[in-house]
Parts: sequence; structure tokens; C-alpha cells
Amino acid sequence: MNKNIVDLHEKLQALLLTQRDSSIQGKVADYIPALASVKPDLAGISVATIAGNVVSAGEYQHPFSIQSISKVFGLVMAMNRIGDSLWQRVRMEPSGQPFNSIIQLEWEKGIPRNPVINAGALLVSDVLTSHFSSSKLAFLTFVRKLAGNESIFVDNQVYQSELTHGNGNAALAYLMKSFGNIESEIPEVLSHYFTQCSIAMSCEQLAKSFLFLANKGIDPRTKKTICTARDAHRVNAILSTSGMYDQSGEFAFSVGLPAKSGVGGGVMAVVPGYGVICSWSPPLNSFGNSVVGMSLVAGVAEELGLSIYH
Ligand code: GLU
Repeated sequence: MNKNIVDLHEKLQALLLTQRDSSIQGKVADYIPALASVKPDLAGISVATIAGNVVSAGEYQHPFSIQSISKVFGLVMAMNRIGDSLWQRVRMEPSGQPFNSIIQLEWEKGIPRNPVINAGALLVSDVLTSHFSSSKLAFLTFVRKLAGNESIFVDNQVYQSELTHGNGNAALAYLMKSFGNIESEIPEVLSHYFTQCSIAMSCEQLAKSFLFLANKGIDPRTKKTICTARDAHRVNAILSTSGMYDQSGEFAFSVGLPAKSGVGGGVMAVVPGYGVICSWSPPLNSFGNSVVGMSLVAGVAEELGLSIYH
């Protein structure tokens, strides 16, 4: 094995060893029972590179609920499907509000601040439900192709839990519909959104799936164009300013990578021109970001000097 790869593997293992214990500072998401029962002490990390290497440590093959990370897949699908008209229905500004906040949405007449807060992701889900005959299947097919793995699945227990406890998201969707910014029926939009949130994937699968964002829209393994270079740039820009919930500014300040986290404990960070880092550990901080997941990404970025602002 190449020396750089051995070095990186050793670095990942060392980071995991030092960071793992800080998970006790966090709290596993408990807004739905299916997530509250996840084991808090699991942790993993994978680094996939454009050059074709995948280096991992810990529980990197353990599938977890991707939750908000699914918003990135949905955004790419919607951009591909309806092009620039998407930006008349959702903006590209940081919200400065919690990801599920409804207050701003009323002030701003049903136009979400960005596609990675819940209102924006519901808007994107509406685009998908109204432009695909079976949006859930299209979504799963897209993700499976990117990961190169047909066994990726929707965790039905998480899905049912989301549906039962989905009133806040329903409120966001109905408010947008009242402003004329949702086309499909709300139950259909919610069902799509909860399905994509309930997909289970591992660090390794996620790291490989998002390589196109590090490579100007082209999947380096298949050489296929997943989105235009301009759209890859736009997604990365949105992730830099809004991907880490209300801690995006601090993450840019201290780590300097476009990234998206999810309340399942996953953190996915794009390193343009290099690859993708994906980490996972369920306990979250008060912003909803994985405590250990963030430190792992920060550790790799620092050790390898990966910040985009250098
Ligand atoms: N299913 C979650 C919700 O909509 C996703 C939240 C997240 O990961 O940010 O509340």
C-alpha cells in the first residue's frame, strides 16, 4: 500500500482514538424514538479521494440515518431537473435561524432562505414529487448509482417515526403552499422528504457518493457528469455558508470546508480537487451537529491542510 495511504489510515485511527470519548458531551437526537435508540458510542470516518483511494477507520461501514445529508442529493436532482428556475422559489442565503424554524418563512412570504434548511428541503421535495412520476424511487436510484451500491435502503422504522412526529415539517409545507410556493399535495411532499431523510448509508458509501462535488460535477470513478461544474460550485457554496445548521459560520471559521451534517450524527465535507470526508457519531451538540463527527473532520482537515480558505 502507498505510504501516504498508510499514513492517512494511521492518522484517522489516532483521531478516532482521541476524539471518540468526547461523544459524552453530546446527546443523541431524540425528536423521534427510532433515532433516540441508536447506540451513542459508535463512530467512524472515511476519506474518499478523486484519485481513487478510500481510507477509513472505526465503524465506517455501519449504516446510519443520513437525515439532512439527503438534502444535498435532493438539491442536485432538483437543479438538474428544473435548472435556474429553482432559484425563484428558494434563495441561497444563510438563515441565521434553527433549521426547522418557521418564523422567517412567514416574513419572507413562503420563500425559504436556502435549500438545506427544512423549509428549503421541503420545497426541493415538492420539485421532485411534481417532476418525477415516482420521486422516491428516482431518489433511491440516484443515491444507489452514486454509491455504486444497490443494497442502500430506506429504514422503515425511521420513516414511520418521522411521519408520526412530522407536524413541524407539515406546518412549514402548508405555510409555503398558502403562499403558492408548493405545487404538489402536502402529504406527498412530506412522504418524499421523510423517505429521503430515512435512507441509511455508511460513512464509506456517503464519502464515495459525493465525490462529484469535489470534482466539478464529474464522478471520478465512472467519468459520468452528475451535475454541471457551475452547479457543483453552487452546491459547495451553499454548504459552506449553510450546511452546518446555525454553526456554519463557526465551521467555516475553524475548518474551512463545504459540509453538511444530519441529526443522525453524520458529517459530510467536500474538499474541492481532493475528495470527500464523511464521519459519523450519533451524539449531537446543541446546534444539531455531531460532536465527534465535527472534530474528526476538523482533525483531518487540519492534519492535511485542506481548508479551502488557505
Ligand atoms: N428529518 C429531520 C427533520 O426534518 C431532519 C433534520 C436534520 O437532519 O436536520 O426534522
